[in-house]
Amino acid sequence: MSTNRRQFLSSAVGGLVTAGATAGTRRAWAQGASPKIKPGGRDVLLVVDVQNDFIPGGALPVKEGDLIVPLVNQIAAGFEHVIMTQDWHTPGHISFASVHAGKKPFETTKLAYGTQVLWPDHCVQGTAGADFHKDLKIPHAELIIRKGYRKQMDSYSAFFEADGKSTTGLSGYVRDRGFRQVFLVGLATDFCVCWSALDARKVGLGAQVVEDACRGIDTNGSLAKAWDQMTKAGVKRIRSADLSV
Ligand SMILES: [Zn+2]
Repeated sequence: MSTNRRQFLSSAVGGLVTAGATAGTRRAWAQGASPKIKPGGRDVLLVVDVQNDFIPGGALPVKEGDLIVPLVNQIAAGFEHVIMTQDWHTPGHISFASVHAGKKPFETTKLAYGTQVLWPDHCVQGTAGADFHKDLKIPHAELIIRKGYRKQMDSYSAFFEADGKSTTGLSGYVRDRGFRQVFLVGLATDFCVCWSALDARKVGLGAQVVEDACRGIDTNGSLAKAWDQMTKAGVKRIRSADLSV
């Protein structure tokens, strides 16, 4: 901690903060390392789809998906409020390549709500692949929100399904709980994390993606496109070292 900052903090504790002191503090902060973000009571961590099928060895593995688990646990421990999401498809779900004749995984098709990337069968309700990774330890998570359970529609976002209208109920929950800002970690950066972050902005929430606590699939340039979209929507791109957790 810099001398200036120590002086400011002791002033603040003594109740001597003046406009001049505040301005001086901003300069002191600007000269030193960036202040870390300390999550508060109106912040919520959204842990996206850390499920077996998205981990190497699963049906739709995200490269290095397992490596984020200890970091996600560590970050979650620093948040009072945590919500976890769980991809939760019916058997024969419309997002599975296996139900589209002649299509292979990672090809696309046109559906009523837009272009759909077709995936290997994954995260089928009640299967081991849909379970959370065994090392994910977030006992204080307050809500598990499931998505993608409508057979005829995919849902990357934790807030809205792929038509952009059918709701999961999360925006109402977040509003009722008084949360103002969402921090996102999990899988995969360029699909479920990205779409959730974009929808968080749409419903008026702040959104910060912790980049090193996520991993992407990156099919057909999807990762660069996702960061571009998120940046334009005002989603902040941070690293775990930026957090005081
Ligand atoms: Zn899915």
